[in-house]
Amino acid sequence: MNQNVAKTAPFLVFTDLDGSLIEHESYSMEAAKPALAELARRGVTPVFASSKTAAEILALQRASRITAPFISENGAAVYDSLGQILTAFGLPRTNWLDAVHQLRERLSLRFTGFSDCPVDQIAELTGLSKGDAGKAQRREFTEPMLWQDTQANFQLFQSEIQKLSLTTLEGGRFISIQSQFDKGSAMQWLQARHSQPRPFLVALGDSPNDLSLLAAADVAVVIKSNKSDQLYPQGPATVIRTSMPGPAGWNDGIRQILDLLDSQQLLIN
Ligand SMILES: [Mg+2]
Repeated sequence: MNQNVAKTAPFLVFTDLDGSLIEHESYSMEAAKPALAELARRGVTPVFASSKTAAEILALQRASRITAPFISENGAAVYDSLGQILTAFGLPRTNWLDAVHQLRERLSLRFTGFSDCPVDQIAELTGLSKGDAGKAQRREFTEPMLWQDTQANFQLFQSEIQKLSLTTLEGGRFISIQSQFDKGSAMQWLQARHSQPRPFLVALGDSPNDLSLLAAADVAVVIKSNKSDQLYPQGPATVIRTSMPGPAGWNDGIRQILDLLDSQQLLIN
């Protein structure tokens, strides 16, 4: 692997939301504010890369006064800073959701997906307000679900949905049923839109659905979580593991990167 020392900006920051930039339970990003302000001072606006829907991400961007492109539904689609879709990598959920439900019935499998739930129940499962739960339900490419069956049946389910060109991806709270795409490919697609020399990539995440994002970055920040011990990205020249979860860990990770950058010690690919 080629390793270089990063001398200056520009660089791009891609970040997971739940459990990374925002707290799992309170959905607050308060503890990350100092690092966000320092990035803003350097002209860097984080690109949100989340399992959330476009509607949810746009609302979060507005609330945090952030205008930037973003990646929705685990990398299914990329939007520009005006909220217009630029490209989609995912098979539309309406094309395959009925087939997944028929499969569940045929094999008597037990799981509950967002499409099975009224908005009140989504609010209860996620801790979101009813309005935000409504936005979470507006999914185009992914079906988050809670698996309520055995591990053996989960393996059976996985092999059956492969025949439908589908797969599963584990997030912090839910397992996503979706076609083959990931956050890392969506990040690289956005990076390729920049002219040469392309900005280097910083990525932050806390769960298995962030592994592709972390692995494709030059600098990866693994935010502490109950699943972060599953995350060992091989690609990045620099990997930082935070000791704190959520936005406090995010703040610390960015701080460490900026300190390394400023002292010309930040290794990139
Ligand atoms: Mg997360």
